[in-house]
Amino acid sequence: MNVDWLKRLRRGARLLLWSQVAAYLLVNVFGALSVFFGQPQAYLTWGVLIHTSASLPGLFGVFALSSRGPRDEPGQCLSEPLRLACGGVAAFGWLLHVAWAVSTLVAGDQHRAAWELSSRIVGVLMVVLVLSRMRQLASTLVAAHLARSFLSVTYAYMALALADYVVFALVLGPDGGGADMFCGWALTGLGVVVWIWGLVLLGRFASRIGTVIAGHCGNCEYDLTGNVSGVCPECGTEARALQGA
Ligand SMILES: [Zn+2]
Repeated sequence: MNVDWLKRLRRGARLLLWSQVAAYLLVNVFGALSVFFGQPQAYLTWGVLIHTSASLPGLFGVFALSSRGPRDEPGQCLSEPLRLACGGVAAFGWLLHVAWAVSTLVAGDQHRAAWELSSRIVGVLMVVLVLSRMRQLASTLVAAHLARSFLSVTYAYMALALADYVVFALVLGPDGGGADMFCGWALTGLGVVVWIWGLVLLGRFASRIGTVIAGHCGNCEYDLTGNVSGVCPECGTEARALQGA
């Protein structure tokens, strides 16, 4: 019975991973093309819309990852408030981007700073919630080292977001400024590193879930066919996910 839930988690992780990659690639390719053809304004107008459309499958990925889970497994089951927080914040963040896209199409780029700031705040909240959920799932289903990596990427992301806000509020101001060149690019570069790190973890999480579905230990890949104790004899990891499967 839990195998269906595991497949749902794997699908969610893959949706989130590939929609993020698609959104990033599409926006940047479009940005490069619009600059190449001397239409940088088109990038500002349509970039948000492209990003919003391409990231829609990721929203369903977050919904899948924040599904409740088996009720008899406290480590895997997500409480209702947390479930609503994960899915709700993700949905709110996506709708915020839709509103941003509509506002840009109707009123142009004049409120960009306000939209960008609110989307950043919601985005950080969403990333922290989703990563916490991934850490919870990784620690009970897959492997302790993946759970620790999810924790590290959460801290790195929070530190970076804090630095981003400080720069945004104190150095650049809502309308931007000359310090943009250095601080902005440095933070963006670090942000891309953390972002890729998170995506690699998502991919490894999905592949480990596949290992568990195939009847192997998520930590050491030992074949658990016929195992009744619920504990991997090779590494001692509790393989509770396969109970009742
Ligand atoms: Zn094992």
